[in-house]
Amino acid sequence: MKIYLNGDLVEKDKAMVSVFDHGLLYGDGVFEGIRLYDHCVFKLDEHLERLEYSAKAILLELPLNRQQLADAVCETCRANNLSNGYVRLVVTRGVGHLGLSPDGCGPPSVIIIADDIQLYPQELYETGLKIISVPTRRINASALPPAVKSLNYLNNILAKIEAKKVGFQEALMLNDKGEIAECTGDNVFVLSKGVLYTPPLDAGSLRGITRASVMDIAQDLGIKCREQALTRYDLWTAEECFLTGTAAEVIPCVEVDHRRVGSGEPGEITRKFISKFRENVCEDGVKL
Ligand code: PMP
Repeated sequence: MKIYLNGDLVEKDKAMVSVFDHGLLYGDGVFEGIRLYDHCVFKLDEHLERLEYSAKAILLELPLNRQQLADAVCETCRANNLSNGYVRLVVTRGVGHLGLSPDGCGPPSVIIIADDIQLYPQELYETGLKIISVPTRRINASALPPAVKSLNYLNNILAKIEAKKVGFQEALMLNDKGEIAECTGDNVFVLSKGVLYTPPLDAGSLRGITRASVMDIAQDLGIKCREQALTRYDLWTAEECFLTGTAAEVIPCVEVDHRRVGSGEPGEITRKFISKFRENVCEDGVKL
């Protein structure tokens, strides 16, 4: 496997970064997870825009412009003869001293890994996920905007651990007001009386690229979609629920906090979103 590392394509076992890189020492950096479907990098421009915004928010100057980053992503996929898979694009603050300050750090390291994707098993798309809300709250937007896709995922990792410890694959994260924010790596949608709802970004959700695709699909299907503050009660009493994310795509959720969602099986509308999303993935991106 070839890894893109600061302009070079190097073998996996030679792809090394310094122990003084602030990405490692402090989680100081940004990243994107991107899908490749049938030689087409899905929503590449949207991912690169979000990366630029994340970098800007943490005052990290990207060493490559959008076209250069797009070329590097495509080059890495081609070098690995990949036609379907997952691309992890990482930009770290770079090598510095042991102190927190990024002064003297750099240049930023650009790392691109293109690999097969480990999805949830197909069976779960038929039967649906069961999720549970956990004590760890989504980080407060005034502490660190959740819209920044930074290398520091401890908040989400703690939530994931808490869910796993009690036998669930995914955690539902609330914000400090007790509203639904998102899951550890996915946005949340519910269908209630025929209207689709998802938490607004200021509730602590990432501006998910899949979330935006689902909103577009809703419009195409003539289903109203609203960004609205949601509580656990809204999920417990919803007719349908699903999660969205680059890796998970659209996955049904059939149980929240031990309450069955709807009939306890993936809903009809959810199934429509899954198939529409899969229909669209090869059309909306950059061809290798
Ligand atoms: N929330 C978080 C915390 C994420 O890390 C992700 C990405 N895995 C998402 C939501 C979903 O975003 P996207 O659809 O862009 O992958």
